[in-house]
Amino acid sequence: MGVSDHKCLACNAKLKFEPKSQKWVCEYCGTEYTLKDFEDEKGNKKNTNTSKARNNNGYLEYHCPDCGAQIVMDENTAATECVYCGNTAIITERFEGKFEPKRVIPFKTTKEEAIEAFSSYKKGKVFMPKEFLNKNNIEKVSGVYIPFFLYDMIVDGSIDVDAVKEHSWSDSDFKYVKKDYYNAVREGTMAFEKIPTDASQKFSDDIMDSIEPFNYNDLTAFNSSYMSGFLAEKYDLDANDLLARAEGRAKQTTRDILYNDIRGYNSKKVNEFTGDVSINGVPEYVMLPVWMMNVKYEGKIYTMAMNGQTGKFIGNVPISKRKVAIAWFSITAIVALIIGIIGMCI
Ligand SMILES: [Zn+2]
Ligand SMILES: [Zn+2]
Repeated sequence: MGVSDHKCLACNAKLKFEPKSQKWVCEYCGTEYTLKDFEDEKGNKKNTNTSKARNNNGYLEYHCPDCGAQIVMDENTAATECVYCGNTAIITERFEGKFEPKRVIPFKTTKEEAIEAFSSYKKGKVFMPKEFLNKNNIEKVSGVYIPFFLYDMIVDGSIDVDAVKEHSWSDSDFKYVKKDYYNAVREGTMAFEKIPTDASQKFSDDIMDSIEPFNYNDLTAFNSSYMSGFLAEKYDLDANDLLARAEGRAKQTTRDILYNDIRGYNSKKVNEFTGDVSINGVPEYVMLPVWMMNVKYEGKIYTMAMNGQTGKFIGNVPISKRKVAIAWFSITAIVALIIGIIGMCI
């Protein structure tokens, strides 16, 4: 199993992918590179250091090609940072064969922007404990390429709904209510393109769903050089494992669209929905960019994430009991004061 990294052709220092310029920049001499610079005319990679890794009970031990330090990683890590020298180590075998991603959306937002988003998130959260997002926590933001499968699907959907229209009027003696009962049916065929499902069990489905959508126009042919400066995982759930989840999303959307198309009633009840799903082509294996931050607070892990392409941000934060108590006390005090004032006026 090989481990590789990418080096500056001029000074051999490490290179990092720069989201703003979409180029690779040498941290030492500042030389900029494009993808073409890493390959010779035959398409072979050049100036890539490699070293052998050893497999030990699912954990991989390897020597950093840069500083020689020994690093241990789990069986799904595909790119990681050497904790000693900060170099990105890319496990080439985890991007090969069935694990070779077809395309990647390179990071468009920078670490600084992610830190800024995390910091300003803090400002808007009145009840969040002050110590939760301290500087030390915020600096642990990492850029991760997360494996996804993208599905193209067609759903033949049909919904059967009982619907009621109500009409009421009154005269001097009575109030009248007239109810008309209808049976409404809607059918439709819907085509879905690129339904994403994250393919790593390490990341919560909820969070990955929440940072959507990605703009798939930015998908570009995969090259491991894009991993420079980031972490990456390979999939541990394959396209078959995830099929039901993708189908579920397509069916739910079809159901919602058909249901919402039945308009003009006072109430609706679904009798039956059927959705026949057929899959179009082979699901595509891609890497999508996400900034992640995990914060441990009072024994619980809170995850925050930012879409590495669009900057969309989501997070769960704890609520400070003390702050809620203070707010409750203030509101109660104001109410008491108002009652007091009203009392005085009467
Ligand atoms: Zn250089
Ligand atoms: Zn190192």
